[in-house]
Amino acid sequence: MARSRKSKSSGSDLYAEFSGAADEVSEDADLPKDEAGRRKIKRQYQGLLGIRLEKLRGRILNRERINKTVEGIYFICAKCLKVCHSLDEGIIEDPANQANLCLRCGKSRTAAA
Ligand SMILES: [Zn+2]
Repeated sequence: MARSRKSKSSGSDLYAEFSGAADEVSEDADLPKDEAGRRKIKRQYQGLLGIRLEKLRGRILNRERINKTVEGIYFICAKCLKVCHSLDEGIIEDPANQANLCLRCGKSRTAAA
């Protein structure tokens, strides 16, 4: 079945919501539980913060409960300056919340010391 009639929505597009709900992620109301979801959030953080990433390096951006025992943490690695998630990149938490590191940076640091 050809679905080539892609009209620019110029009004109420009731039927489009039924047919194309899956491939268009326009709202992120639900909690991202998978890696793809987190990647998107990280990108959003990165875009949102822009150059402020530098100022906030090493800080935790957000904590979320993934389930009863697991906590997810979005943070900016103090070394590589990337927005990381504790479940993806890992986290070496700084008790003072000044210089949190992703696992890779943390490892290379302790290896050098
Ligand atoms: Zn890092």
